[in-house]
Amino acid sequence: MSFDTLNLQPKILKAVTAAGYSEPTKIQLKAIPEIMKGSDIRASAQTGTGKTAAFLLPALNLLATPSANGSKGPRVLILVPTRELAMQIATQAEKYSKYLERAKTVCVVGGVPYHSQLRNLSRPYDVLIATPGRLIDFINQRKINFDRVEMLILDEADRMLDMGFSEPVEQIVNATPSSRQTLLFSATLQKSIIKLSEKLMDNPVEITVDAERAKHENIEQKLHYADNLSHKNSLLDHILSDKSLEFAIVFTSTKRHADQLVDELADKGHHTAALHGDMNQRQRTRTITQLRNGRINVLVATDVAARGIDVQSITHVINFDLPNNVEDYVHRIGRTGRAGAKGTAISFAAGRDRHLVKEIEKFTGQQINVSEIAGLEPSPQKYSSRPMQRSRFNSGSNRRSDGPRWGNKRSSNSGGNRSNSGGNRSNSGGNRSDSGGGRSNSSGGRFKSAAKPSQGRARRPHSTKR
Ligand code: AMP
Repeated sequence: MSFDTLNLQPKILKAVTAAGYSEPTKIQLKAIPEIMKGSDIRASAQTGTGKTAAFLLPALNLLATPSANGSKGPRVLILVPTRELAMQIATQAEKYSKYLERAKTVCVVGGVPYHSQLRNLSRPYDVLIATPGRLIDFINQRKINFDRVEMLILDEADRMLDMGFSEPVEQIVNATPSSRQTLLFSATLQKSIIKLSEKLMDNPVEITVDAERAKHENIEQKLHYADNLSHKNSLLDHILSDKSLEFAIVFTSTKRHADQLVDELADKGHHTAALHGDMNQRQRTRTITQLRNGRINVLVATDVAARGIDVQSITHVINFDLPNNVEDYVHRIGRTGRAGAKGTAISFAAGRDRHLVKEIEKFTGQQINVSEIAGLEPSPQKYSSRPMQRSRFNSGSNRRSDGPRWGNKRSSNSGGNRSNSGGNRSNSGGNRSDSGGGRSNSSGGRFKSAAKPSQGRARRPHSTKR
C-alpha cells in the first residue's frame, strides 16, 4: 500500500517521498484515514512505529485549507510529556511541511528562556507543540489564544499521567474549543488513559497497532548477571569496546550515577556525555546534537530525559540498571532498532532482579537470553538456579592475559568472600567503594589493559571525548 491512497495533499506526499518513506507503517495506515474523516481517536502504538507521522501528516493536511477564523493562535495543538519529544516532533513537522505555505511550528517547553518563546508566540504560527507545565504558564499569562484550535493531539499520554500532568492536561484541554478533534496516543491503553480519554472525547475510534507489549523483533535482547557495581563497570567497558557497537545509550537509575559513569567512561577513553533532568534545555540539545554528529557515541541517560530520543544510528541500548517497570524497559530498548534497523539491547541484572526479569519476559512474551563474557562471568552459585539459555558474547578478544589473576581473585572470592560480594551487591548503587572494592582493582588495573584492546578504540570514528 502506498501513501497515494491516503488522500494527503500532493505537497505533503512530496515531502513524505523526500523523507524516503516508500509506504505507510501500520499505525499510519490505520490512523490517517480515521483522522482525515474527522474522528476522535484513541491509539496505542509503541515508539518507533511511525506514530508521529500518523498524527502529523493528517494534521498538516488540515492546514492546507485556510482557517475560517481570523484570530491568532495555533490550529493544531500537540501536548507531550518532555522537551525532547517536543523537539523531535517539531523536527518531523518541519520535514513533512517543507513544501507547505501555512505550517509554522512553535515549541513551548520548560527549561528554556521565556522571552524567545514569547517572541515566537507573538508571530503568526499554526502548530503549537508544548509540554504542559510551560503551556500552563503562558495560558495563565494570557499569552495564547486557543480560539483557532481545530485539532488537539496528546502524545505519550501515559507518560504525561505518570509525570503527574493529569490536572494541567485537563486545564489545557478545557481551554480549547469543544468543536476540536482530539487524538490521543499512548504506549498502553491502561485504565487511567481510558478514563482520561472519556473525559476528553466522545466515542473515539480505538486503534491498537503493536501495543507497547509488542515484540521488538528487530532488537536482540541479552541479559548479563552481575555480581556488583564493579562487575557491571567491567561488563560495560567490554561491551562498549565491541566492534559492532557504533552508538549506544546506557541507562542508569539516577542522575548522579549517570554523571559519575560519564566521568568513569571518559577516563577509560570512551566518547560519552550524560543526558538527564538536571540539565537545562541548551545542554540537552547540545548533547543530542553531539550524538547525532558522532562527536560522542555513548549517551548515559536517565529514563525521563531519554524519552523521545530518535537517533536512528543507535545500535545498542544498555540497561546498566534495570528500570523499575516493564513499560520503561520496552521504551528504553525501543531507542535502538529505529525505523526497521537492527538493534541490540543488553541489560545488567543482579540476582535480586530476577523477578523483574521474569516480569519483563512475561510482558514482552519473549525470553531474554542470558549471556556471559569469558572472564567476566557472574559467580556461578548465585545464578545457577535460573534456567539459562546461554549465549557467548564475543568471547575471543576477551581471553585475557590476566585470566589467571582474575581467576585467582574470583576463586578466592568464591570461597568465604563470595557472600561478601553478594552482601555488597544490594548497596552497589550508592556504595560504590564498597562494591567496587573487590573487583575495581582488577577492573581498573589489570583487567582494563587486556579486555579493552587498544585497536578497539583506534577503530572509533569519533574524535573528541565529550
Ligand atoms: P516514531 O514512531 O514516530 O518515533 O517514528 C520512528 C521513525 O520512523 C522516525 O525516525 C520516522 O522518521 C520514521 N518513519 C515514520 N514513518 C515512516 C515510514 N512510513 N517509512 C519509514 N520510516 C518512517
